[in-house]
Amino acid sequence: MNLLKTNKKQDNLTYQNNLTFAQQCDTDDPLKQFREAFLFPKDEAGKPLVYLCGNSLGLQPKRTQKYLQEELNDWSKHGVEGHTDATNPWLPYHEFLTENMAKIVGAKPSEVVMMNTLTTNLHLMMVSFYQPTKKKYKIVVESDAFPSDKYAVESQLQFHGFDAKDGLILWTPREGEELCRYEDLEAIMETQGDEIALLMIGSTNYYSGQHFPLKKITALGHAYDCMVGFDLAHGAGNIQPNLHDTGADFAVWCSYKYLNSGPGSLGGCFVHERHANNSKLKRFTGWWGHNKETRFNMRHEFDALPGAEGWQLSNPPILSMAAIRASLDVFTEAGFDNLRMKSKKLTGYLEFLLDELKDDRISIITPRNPEERGCQLSIQLRSANKAFHTKLTEAGVISDWREPDVIRVAPAPLYNSFEDVFDFVQRLKKVLG
Ligand SMILES: *Cc1c(COP(=O)(O)O)cnc(C)c1O
Repeated sequence: MNLLKTNKKQDNLTYQNNLTFAQQCDTDDPLKQFREAFLFPKDEAGKPLVYLCGNSLGLQPKRTQKYLQEELNDWSKHGVEGHTDATNPWLPYHEFLTENMAKIVGAKPSEVVMMNTLTTNLHLMMVSFYQPTKKKYKIVVESDAFPSDKYAVESQLQFHGFDAKDGLILWTPREGEELCRYEDLEAIMETQGDEIALLMIGSTNYYSGQHFPLKKITALGHAYDCMVGFDLAHGAGNIQPNLHDTGADFAVWCSYKYLNSGPGSLGGCFVHERHANNSKLKRFTGWWGHNKETRFNMRHEFDALPGAEGWQLSNPPILSMAAIRASLDVFTEAGFDNLRMKSKKLTGYLEFLLDELKDDRISIITPRNPEERGCQLSIQLRSANKAFHTKLTEAGVISDWREPDVIRVAPAPLYNSFEDVFDFVQRLKKVLG
């Protein structure tokens, strides 16, 4: 079995619906040892649960505790001097994350910074990249955008004195469909492009799992003189967004989903290098975005750092950054291209097994094309309700329920196995009865 083969047709022919096959895939998996690098939640009897919820909260790398402990030790040993004397000095600590993070999102290091949390970063980016005029002020989002993104966008419209209903344009799937079509976004731009100031799209939709063509969307937006930003909450660590190459103006993401950095951990932010020294952009500022040489002179006028770092506000929480550093080190050891290759195979197997159920209550709303999705499959279970999901949880599966009838499962290539996927489908079958 060749794990490097990602051609879907061939894979479908070679996948087999039995445990031996799943276990063989795990034996052949060049990334199999990374499962051992994570801590799995267990049931009351101490048996590991089938954890397919890395799209909501990634699992804890075993090394995270050590990285955190190191900072606690340095704090006790050095007090304030830890800013310069800690093993990993706190003053430049965010810089230790930049290079590995930049690789995962396909950006240059100067374009990336870890800071704040996702929604905060989204607001900061809109302060700079949403500069509406009376005529050009509307914002496009995909219709099933994550609620927080929608609230943020609506409040930005209102903040600038616009009516949120009038100013918000939804890119919507067609009647009877679940996915957004690119040509419908083109149609929106053709008819309303003159009035649109910003395209703010979730790179990989949290609900459907649909991954959008970021480069095409950016070119489309720019052709109509709009700014373009992406929310990579479900993209970072899952797909390779190639941010620099897309030409997007900005992007934001969180680190607690696919990036395994712990609940509420800091987010990431990308600003394209063509804006690195763009003094025309308005921004909300704080001392951590100020020139490092004179930051502590305190009385200087604001002197923005070039690149994404110039948008920092505060000195960041080191403990959260230590957890991010631990996680990024695991990613770097595994290699993102290898992970993506396994991910296609693993999710392809999940898709194959779900199809094998031949149950017409089930449909997969996520695109069938591996290039148009990450690891998540969103499974629609006609006439199911939350009680069904509770039964699945009682059967030892951690997955995610979205009203009205969708279960989201996300086999994470870093720590999930082919056997996990096989196990899940067996348990689902049992609960379906
Ligand atoms: C998870 C998620 C968020 C969460 O935002 P926080 O500010 O980190 O709480 C926002 N947007 C999307 C698309 C998400 O998936």
